[in-house]
Amino acid sequence: MISLAFHHDRIVAATISDGGDFVLASDVATPDGDYRGWLLAARDAVDALGDGTAAMKVAVALPAIVDEGVVSFTPLATIGQSNLQRDLQSALGREVGLYGFGDCLAAFEARDMPKSDTLVALWIGKSCHGGIRANGARLEGAHGAAGNWAHLQLPSPVPHELDGRHCWCGRSGCLETFLSESGFEDDYERITGERHDAASIAAAAATGDIVADSVVQVFEDRLGRATATIISLFDPQMIILGGMVPLPERLETRVPRKWPGYVQINRTKTRLAVSANGADALLKGAALLMSGKN
Ligand SMILES: [Zn+2]
Repeated sequence: MISLAFHHDRIVAATISDGGDFVLASDVATPDGDYRGWLLAARDAVDALGDGTAAMKVAVALPAIVDEGVVSFTPLATIGQSNLQRDLQSALGREVGLYGFGDCLAAFEARDMPKSDTLVALWIGKSCHGGIRANGARLEGAHGAAGNWAHLQLPSPVPHELDGRHCWCGRSGCLETFLSESGFEDDYERITGERHDAASIAAAAATGDIVADSVVQVFEDRLGRATATIISLFDPQMIILGGMVPLPERLETRVPRKWPGYVQINRTKTRLAVSANGADALLKGAALLMSGKN
């Protein structure tokens, strides 16, 4: 199986063995605002894997909602206005399956989970996505959109959180404007007037920078509110976070401590964990979904 992940700035391709291991990988930058350029970049990424992959199908992970092969609700406007499945199949000359980031993360992280458990996966990156597994299967919903948590409004906002943060989806105050790479970086910039990338801010917090630490604390509290809403709706055994998650070990402990303030009944069986697999989980999860193994 070949997997492709369409990130905001690059396309990553990998061949994945039946056992789920990476065999080969390639990575190309994505062109700006050019649909044909995207297709050609995807082809370049696949071609770089070599001739031995000629008979392989391609599973594609996208920051989008995917419903029966149709892509919608993606910040990558270039790929969201076309019949991507048809055009990718044509560009690659192979069978293609499309899957949202949230469903890919959920499929991969649920692989060793009891079938009776419910898992909610939250991808936090340049854009944010979600997926739900219940009874051993993806919860698709009526429109392939189940788990699309990031465009709910931030729960229990305090006054300064109502300052009208604009979201790419056209509304303001969405969770993604707070709980994303750029949201995290925006918070730091508001306090310091300086722009740093999310990884640098998290690293500064880990070494005792008080301002960076306060930004992480605010992130944790907002994540506590957001996940409490998810717990109220789905009562999952597991919430898994992927992508950009600052100070994951600390966050796994601190966020659940916030839940009693937002969830009305005892939910101590729900665990919060951060995926240890980074963006690889998207590629491997897409392969699992296309192979029908998960
Ligand atoms: Zn939004």
